[in-house]
Amino acid sequence: MSFDVEQIRADFPILHQQVYHKPLVYLDNAATTQKPLAVIDALRDYYTTINSNIHRGVHYLSQQATLAFEETRQLVSEYVHARHGYEIIFTKGATESINLVASSFGREFVKPGDEIVISAMEHHANILPWQLMCAEKGATLRIIPFHVNGELIQEAYRDLLNDKTRLVAITHVSNALGTINPVREMIALAHEHGIPVLVDGAQAVPHLPVDVTEMDCDFYCFSAHKMYGPMGVGVLYGREEWLNKLPPYQSGGEMIRTVTFEKSTFGELPFKFEAGTPNVADILGFRETLLYLDRLGIDQIASHEESLMRYTLDQLRTIPEVRLVGDSPHRAGVISFLIGDVHPYDAGAVLDKLGFAVRTGHHCAQPIMDIYGIPGTIRISLGLYNTRDEVDSFTRAVKRVIEMFR
Ligand code: PLP
Repeated sequence: MSFDVEQIRADFPILHQQVYHKPLVYLDNAATTQKPLAVIDALRDYYTTINSNIHRGVHYLSQQATLAFEETRQLVSEYVHARHGYEIIFTKGATESINLVASSFGREFVKPGDEIVISAMEHHANILPWQLMCAEKGATLRIIPFHVNGELIQEAYRDLLNDKTRLVAITHVSNALGTINPVREMIALAHEHGIPVLVDGAQAVPHLPVDVTEMDCDFYCFSAHKMYGPMGVGVLYGREEWLNKLPPYQSGGEMIRTVTFEKSTFGELPFKFEAGTPNVADILGFRETLLYLDRLGIDQIASHEESLMRYTLDQLRTIPEVRLVGDSPHRAGVISFLIGDVHPYDAGAVLDKLGFAVRTGHHCAQPIMDIYGIPGTIRISLGLYNTRDEVDSFTRAVKRVIEMFR
């Protein structure tokens, strides 16, 4: 199928509206993406046809819902190239996936004096769970620094790994700088020391082909809502050996084999990590997302976004007042910048009134802003439905901001 952006935009009703009497230009895809009609319809279909609780019902509706639920797990596993469907755990988002690993891994494998390595460009979701776990366990968080252009300093990473390191947790794509990290090489290095690696893929899965088997990561986390799927659904991929070694995160119904007041035993993977009734409706909506992305083709999506990102950078670079924050040669369509000395909030407020949905602030990555010594940035993040026309009108809007604050 050819990648026809105008045709694709027709699948996203929310894009065709005006805000403040201006056509909406949605450039906040790193925060959340819009949903195609197929996904929205799937939610209604679920509630009007097969709504029921899954796994334990013998009746028709429950069987249908269970089948579709497990089929979604299989689709996710194929999407990221996991070896087995049961290596896919449903959560409510990337944040919960990371908390799951930090909590279960910490309980079983971390002791006083140990170290966890993360990078200086992590989203708070990949900082705080480790920070809290380290505080509880008497362990230390060690930080990989980055160069001013937003690339991780690989020599510093190499120096940080030692026999006290229990786990490395790094982002695949930075949500504030756009950097695509060389995760494959970084994982290989950690594995040379026998250290497992968690990759935060929240900003990668919607935009790049991801193959967890080839990457050889031990854990990989992402959120459906950032990849054109419903809110409230997340994924943890875990290598079978690790998932088997970790204790349950939450407990309750669905995840047990036997329960007595003296002792309980837990279910097989993946159920051991899925306590309670899951978000069946949204997970089935997510199934439509995966089918939709499959129809478009992730390679085509990636190449559309790559060329739009290069075009956007070229346009922004023609404006002398624009200062890019993060300019790694290996990057995705997340572009952070400042306009002269205009405060990012002031710029964001003007852009909003002109119809542009952009993000301003620290993007849940405060340490990055501290490193650059800035209060925040203006961030645009591209999605599969963005166009060159939108980028052109955005560039004109940036020039208007400059005029207004001159
Ligand atoms: N990791 C990264 C890199 C992100 O950009 C985000 C959200 O912006 C998260 C994790 C957390 O995702 P969620 O809020 O969907 O759990």
